[in-house]
Amino acid sequence: MTKYIMALDAGTTSNRCILFDQAGRICSSAQKEFTQYFPKPGWVEHDPEEIWCTQLEVARQAMANIGATARDIAAVGVANQRETAVVWDKKTGKPIHRAIVWQCRRTAGYCDELKAQGYTEIFRQKTGLVLDAYFSATKLRWLLEEVPGARARAEKGELLFGTIDTWLIWKLTGGKTYVTDYSNASRTMLFNIHTLQWDKEILKQLAIPACMLPTVQPSSCIYGVSDPSLLGAPIPIGGAAGDQQAALFGQVCFSPGEAKNTYGTGCFLLMNTGGVPVFSKNGLVTTIAWGLDGKVTYALEGSVFVAGAAIQWLRDEMQLIKSAQDSEFQAQKVPDTNGCYVVPAFTGLGAPYWDAYARGAILGLTRGVNRYHIIRATLDSIAYEVCDIVSAMEADGGIRLTALKADGGAAANNYLMQTQADLIGAPVARPRCVETTAMGAAYFAGLAVGFWESMDTLLANGGVDRVFQPSMPEVERQKRLKGWRQAVGQVRMETAL
Ligand code: ADP
Repeated sequence: MTKYIMALDAGTTSNRCILFDQAGRICSSAQKEFTQYFPKPGWVEHDPEEIWCTQLEVARQAMANIGATARDIAAVGVANQRETAVVWDKKTGKPIHRAIVWQCRRTAGYCDELKAQGYTEIFRQKTGLVLDAYFSATKLRWLLEEVPGARARAEKGELLFGTIDTWLIWKLTGGKTYVTDYSNASRTMLFNIHTLQWDKEILKQLAIPACMLPTVQPSSCIYGVSDPSLLGAPIPIGGAAGDQQAALFGQVCFSPGEAKNTYGTGCFLLMNTGGVPVFSKNGLVTTIAWGLDGKVTYALEGSVFVAGAAIQWLRDEMQLIKSAQDSEFQAQKVPDTNGCYVVPAFTGLGAPYWDAYARGAILGLTRGVNRYHIIRATLDSIAYEVCDIVSAMEADGGIRLTALKADGGAAANNYLMQTQADLIGAPVARPRCVETTAMGAAYFAGLAVGFWESMDTLLANGGVDRVFQPSMPEVERQKRLKGWRQAVGQVRMETAL
């Protein structure tokens, strides 16, 4: 009898491994950070070999912690930082360059060129995405253009491209399995989310050889088995999904209209829209949530670039708080923000504004505004940003959000969660197990091998830690939202300052 599912959570700053039992409980975990490379302003890279070694190390450690062997593990599931691009040599397994990370802006100029040539709508219709350097396509093109000899080698079929899921599964299977799942493919800006194939026209436009792209598979299926030398015996690899989609699944948002928001460095709000892709008129992207049981489920997604990072800014640059946790206590030393708004547009504004040139501001300052008001206004800004996305989603989907499921580091902040419920006018539920990303990966893998029988059995797992009910009078809510909209209006820019 196998006892566990192994989830590999390959994040942006660290890799984690969690072993879950059948009740969805965490039995063991291990985590390790890896190096972030910033070769130029706005550029971000990772070493793919380091990502692999760290991931393997934490997997072995999570097993060792509880004396688990490969025979105790029914399957492995992978959840990964999305969009990050790796290219490696098919024969030697050596990456030809460091991975270009999703945050990296190096191809922004090329995206501007494509936009000027009128490609925005074509990309949006085919891929569901906003034409932006955030997604993998232009990163891969950059590697082919800039690494000497890369294009010729790619055309000869010597090189492989992958997002982190593909890279890790290829390494785990000793180079035998070259796959990605629908959710990760949908973040490359090379994948047609209607035909469920790599889009030939886009590949031609970006001059990307189709032979360097992985086979796209469901998020829950047996892709292959791990090389026996790695974990002691072969283990089926049964699940893969991008981290945000995995969290949506981990939060059991299985029905259309269900949504989760992850409060991390940034915020990622995803709403299940069922079997049809809903196209946004309000600055959201359309993406594949997962492929499961012969069907694809779509999601609408809104991403906010700076959320928990604004709390780090309060701590590190402004030195107004000692720790991120401290913000909860400090914010409640005052009854309101005294009319003050913080707009943390440090790297521009993401969804629903997509204003690359906006910058942050503190507005509404009067003589009586003190540090506590600013701390409170910064926490509020996270809730307002999420509110903007909820409004955009409601407008696009023509439905009213009935509840929001929260996770991520900053979801631990009770003041923030209550403010969020008040501002969206709907309950916010925080799960008992906040490791929803890893949980989603485990669920996909466990379903593939029958460790869990069906999605219904998963509904019994997990459970809620606390539900925050909205309690703000509607007049007050509208007044505050109006103030926020005015504040955002003040920081918007057409061009750089
Ligand atoms: P990521 O996965 O993006 O690295 P996490 O989900 O680990 O992020 O969350 C970390 C972020 O949450 C940090 O930006 C931190 O400032 C913020 N954070 C953590 N705890 C709190 C808290 N109690 N209140 C507000 N923000 C918090």
